[in-house]
Amino acid sequence: MTKLTEHFMLEEFTRSPTADKLKIDNSVPVDLMPNVQLTAIHLELVRKALGSPIIITSGYRCPALNAKVGGVATSAHTKGLAVDFKSSFGTPKEICQRLIDSGVQFDKLIQEHNQWVHIGFSQTNNRQIVLTAVKQGGKTVYLSGLV
Ligand SMILES: [Zn+2]
Repeated sequence: MTKLTEHFMLEEFTRSPTADKLKIDNSVPVDLMPNVQLTAIHLELVRKALGSPIIITSGYRCPALNAKVGGVATSAHTKGLAVDFKSSFGTPKEICQRLIDSGVQFDKLIQEHNQWVHIGFSQTNNRQIVLTAVKQGGKTVYLSGLV
């Protein structure tokens, strides 16, 4: 196990049942390690704002894994700059509202289908974009703000 910050291990960012099943090597390339480290530092602040632990359900995704799970090719997950997570703090919407109110920095915060929260960070400019993902006619659409 490789410790990144007080509460986050590298393995939390790379584990993936899909990658295991398909025998995809989802380890983080050396050049992306600074991004994952940055994400872990931001997640410590997210954890603090929630006052509850975070369970990362999807962190880093190598391009092969990202394609398998239907992620967009430019996904911040492939750069080590985004995670999907849950928390015992509350529902995804409650988590998002708390993070907005707390002033925590993020590039993109997405309440996804009332099931999980996506949070992404930028190395240079966190834009504080908030979206809600919903299914409309079988397709995922992103609405502005918390809906
Ligand atoms: Zn995501």
